[in-house]
Amino acid sequence: MRTGASGRITVRERVALVIEPETGCREELGRRLALEGFRVIACADVDAAIASVQSTTPDLVVIDVTLDRTALEALCRYVRAGADAGGPPILAVTDANDVEQALATRELGVTDFIRRPIAWDFLALRVRHLMRTAKAFAEAHEVRAGLAIAQRIAQVGSWEWDLDRDEIRWSEQLYRIFGFEPHAVCPSLDLFLERVPEADRQRIHDSLVDLLRGKPSVTLEQSVRRRDGTERIFLCYAETVLTAQGRARRVHGTVQDITERRRTEERIRQLAYFDGLTGLPNRTWFMERLDTAIATARRHRRLFAVMFLDLDKFKRINDTLGHHAGDELLSAFAKRVSQCIRKEDTVTRIGPGTEVVLSRLGGDEFCVLLTDLARSEDAGTVAERILAALAEPFVIAGYETFTSSSIGIAVYPHDGGNADELLKAADVAMYHSKERGRETFHFYDPVMNARAAERLVLESELRRAIEREEFVVHYQPVVDARDATLVGLEALVRWRHPTRGLLLPGQFVDVAEESRMLTSIGDQVLRMACTQLSRWRAEGRTLVPVSVNLSAHHFRKGDLPATIGALLTATGIGPGHLRIEITEGVLMADLDATLPVLRRLQAMGIRLALDDFGTGYSSLGHLQRLPFDDLKIDRSFTRDIGTDPDHAAITTAIIDLAHRLRRSVIAEGIEDTSQVDFLLAHRCHLMQGHLFGSPEPADLVAARLSVATLDDRPVAVAPATAV
Ligand code: C2E
Ligand code: CA
Ligand code: CA
Repeated sequence: MRTGASGRITVRERVALVIEPETGCREELGRRLALEGFRVIACADVDAAIASVQSTTPDLVVIDVTLDRTALEALCRYVRAGADAGGPPILAVTDANDVEQALATRELGVTDFIRRPIAWDFLALRVRHLMRTAKAFAEAHEVRAGLAIAQRIAQVGSWEWDLDRDEIRWSEQLYRIFGFEPHAVCPSLDLFLERVPEADRQRIHDSLVDLLRGKPSVTLEQSVRRRDGTERIFLCYAETVLTAQGRARRVHGTVQDITERRRTEERIRQLAYFDGLTGLPNRTWFMERLDTAIATARRHRRLFAVMFLDLDKFKRINDTLGHHAGDELLSAFAKRVSQCIRKEDTVTRIGPGTEVVLSRLGGDEFCVLLTDLARSEDAGTVAERILAALAEPFVIAGYETFTSSSIGIAVYPHDGGNADELLKAADVAMYHSKERGRETFHFYDPVMNARAAERLVLESELRRAIEREEFVVHYQPVVDARDATLVGLEALVRWRHPTRGLLLPGQFVDVAEESRMLTSIGDQVLRMACTQLSRWRAEGRTLVPVSVNLSAHHFRKGDLPATIGALLTATGIGPGHLRIEITEGVLMADLDATLPVLRRLQAMGIRLALDDFGTGYSSLGHLQRLPFDDLKIDRSFTRDIGTDPDHAAITTAIIDLAHRLRRSVIAEGIEDTSQVDFLLAHRCHLMQGHLFGSPEPADLVAARLSVATLDDRPVAVAPATAV
């Protein structure tokens, strides 16, 4: 169609090219074709015909095959090349009954032929049929070409799987998407599967099975390796065509390379949620995270803290050393704080569910979120560690620079119920720190501040107590309740505080543990216990094994067995007189580190007890292979065995378990005879508690150690299975 001079759309006139040397026939062909609506260009030979088609593309070509063969071939090639979709139909006029000639027309690539003498009435029918077929052919060709262009523009490839013939066809664009030249390889499912990660193959296979079983469609987002080795992300969609009986007959699919789209999305996410300079989450991210933290904490009734950090004197560094240096400092600051709040470094009290994240709110303002805290004070511990980490100098623009931070802490739910309130509270607290001379932290809640201050005092006092050896050990008897004989002693530490009197472990052990001082205390207790044993022996007393409680950190230092070995040698105490108690929680927290140390201790002949049993999470499977000799039932179970059937059941189960594992079992916290009766009835004879003796200084306990014999035989604790 085209637009005529009048502006009306008119159908383009059709052109027929006739090459016929014989004048009469040529004229009749011309007349008949004109009747069919063609504009006819009639020529006597090929040269004239080629000259006349220079400016026109014919829609139909009629040739006489008796003409010069080479010239005809050239003509046919010429008209085909000038047109798309295989060119115009070519009708050949042959002599009657000349089969040779008819066959030769095939080689010329003609569409159809008609014999002389021409049945003129038939010519019209033949031509109409030819034109119809050519039109359908051209349309199909155009659709396919259009589809290929559309696929190339949209970067979508398609495929088709004929299940009956098991044939797979790829569109040209699909080859390109995979990095191949069109039709350079034979398409197959394997060709695709080879290019996806092995771990994904089963999933793809399953999706195909779903399709074949009648699922209408599937969509997969799949990472695929192209021919040149690059990894891309493809969005694959497939649909089935079913037979009338509902059987899958064909699968059609499309494949789109969405790598760029995904990258852009990731980049947008980065820009929207992360800070370009430090790579930390930004304010938007932080506020959203805070909302989630509030929702979670509200649901599970948990505490969390928001810590506001502001760099002290950042402006001065920025002004004196320039913006580049300022940026460098911010990055270095972010890096150092991130390192010191890393999970694996985090102090023991922060629970396993705690998440610690640092975010840059903007400028020199940072925020830390500490979720799922056991106690508010723990946020103070983290703040303290951050301040300690910042005490080291930074090297910025070649200069050693010192910077510190003022920190403010707000705790949910006490200090605010929503993100804004919490952030404001943390900010207010931060200003307190600035006012009080910077490089410090403050809680929003004054009560918390008092507690944090107390803690800091305690910590420094503890440090001094270790130096001045202010610790003493009290000993509590372990007895065989059947005849009240003494079978062991537990060494329990006390702190003779210069002003507050004698402090029990509950008042300082946690702080000592968090500030990594508990190992030093433990070393002193070990030494005091061994020295005491050797002193008792020198006094001619019968020795019983003495238990020493050791903390988690002790087991992470691999030299514990060597330290103890040296101590035993120095004091001349046999290993059988020392028992190490480790709580179930400590043991299970880091089994890989603890287990080899325990094995070495046991190989040295030292007894091992699993303390506070029942409160941790050791599985029964683990228990069997753990190297310990005694199980100590936690006081929380024995306390009310007379009144709480659950605790009574747990206690008897632990006793039973110990017997089966051939370990001895010691019940702790025994305060009255009804507990004793219950335990004896359930075949647990070893007990410890106020009923048999509270922890007492060495000289008071000494009276219980007989002086009848001077020999130094270890007094074995009777294994439970033997009694
Ligand atoms: P533990 O190892 O379970 O020690 C037993 C605790 O129960 C002791 O408290 C003891 O005084 C108390 N106790 C004993 N009999 C009774 C009783 O009949 N009723 C009640 N209510 N309590 C009883 P203590 O001495 O305050 O020690 C508390 C915890 O401190 C110990 O629990 C232990 O885990 C830790 N601890 C004590 N000394 C050390 C030490 O030298 N190093 C380490 N790492 N931890 C220690
Ligand atoms: Ca203990
Ligand atoms: Ca215990």
